[in-house]
Amino acid sequence: MTLTTPHQYKARLADKLIHNAKFEQYNFELVEPNQLKFAAGQYGSFLISDQGHRRSWSICSSPAIDHSLEILIDPAPKGAGTQFLQNLKLGDEVQLLAPLGKFTIDESGAEKALVFVATGAGITPFRSMILDLLQVKKDTRPMILHWGLRYVEEMIWQNEFQELAENFPNFQFHPVISKASQEWSMCRGRVTDCLNVHQLLDHAGYYLCGSEQMIADVIQLLSAKGVAPARIHREKFY
Ligand SMILES: Cc1cc2nc3c(=O)[nH]c(=O)nc-3n(C[C@H](O)[C@H](O)[C@H](O)COP(=O)(O)OP(=O)(O)OC[C@H]3O[C@@H](n4cnc5c(N)ncnc54)[C@H](O)[C@@H]3O)c2cc1C
Repeated sequence: MTLTTPHQYKARLADKLIHNAKFEQYNFELVEPNQLKFAAGQYGSFLISDQGHRRSWSICSSPAIDHSLEILIDPAPKGAGTQFLQNLKLGDEVQLLAPLGKFTIDESGAEKALVFVATGAGITPFRSMILDLLQVKKDTRPMILHWGLRYVEEMIWQNEFQELAENFPNFQFHPVISKASQEWSMCRGRVTDCLNVHQLLDHAGYYLCGSEQMIADVIQLLSAKGVAPARIHREKFY
C-alpha cells in the first residue's frame, strides 16, 4: 500500500472515555478535511500549544472508519500532551498532521504469520492493525497478540479481543500480567517470559510497540532465537 501524503486536519472532540487510571480514549470527528485515509499503525502529530509544541499519538481505530479517528493514551506521564487532552471539552477543536509513520504491516507476502508485542499504551496501533487485518482484509494468517500490563484491572478491550479470537480462529490473544493475583490463569511476568514459553511461529513478522526497554529486550530474545532483523518492526513511544 502506498502511504498517503500527510495533511493538516482540524478535528473536533466527539467523545472521551476514561477507562480507568491507566487508559483514556479520545474520539475526534474530522472537520476539515473530513476524510482521513491511513494505513493501520500510523499516527497523528497533534498541536498541543500556541508555541507549536506537538505530541504524537497512534490511531487506534480501524482505517475502515475514515471520518473520525480514535487515540488511546496512558495519562501517567502527566506532561503537556496529557494535560492538553484532559483539558479538552466535547466539541473543542484540535489541529493535527496525519497520517504519519511507517509502522505498518509488511505487504511483501514474506511474513506467513504475525506476532504483535505491546506493553501498556503500545497496544494502540495493534488494535487498528488487527481490526483491519481480520475484519476488512479477511487475512487468514496466524496472528498472536501479546499485551503486557502490570495489573489485570488495567486491561481494556478484553471483550473485543476475546470476541475477535472466537470469531477468527487464526487470531489468539495473550494478555501478560506482571503483578497477577493467584487466580490469573494466563501468562504472568513480562512479555519476554510469555514469548519464551510459546513456540515461535515459522516465518513470522514481529511487530513491537511500547517502551525502548521492552523493545530492546524483545529484540534480544528474538535475535537469540534466530529471527532475522528484517522480520522485526518496531515503534518506540518513549
Ligand atoms: C510515533 C509515536 C506514537 C505514540 N503513540 C502513543 C499512543 O498511542 N498513546 C500514548 O499514550 N502515547 C503515545 N506516544 C507517546 C506520546 O507522544 C506522549 O509522549 C505521551 O502521551 C506522554 O505525553 P506527555 O506530554 O504527557 O508527556 P511527555 O512530555 O511526552 O513525556 C514525559 C516523559 O514521560 C515519558 N513517557 C511518555 N509516554 C510514557 C508512558 N506511556 N509511560 C511512561 N513514560 C512515558 C517520556 O519519554 C518523557 O520522559 C507516542 C509516541 C510516538 C513517538
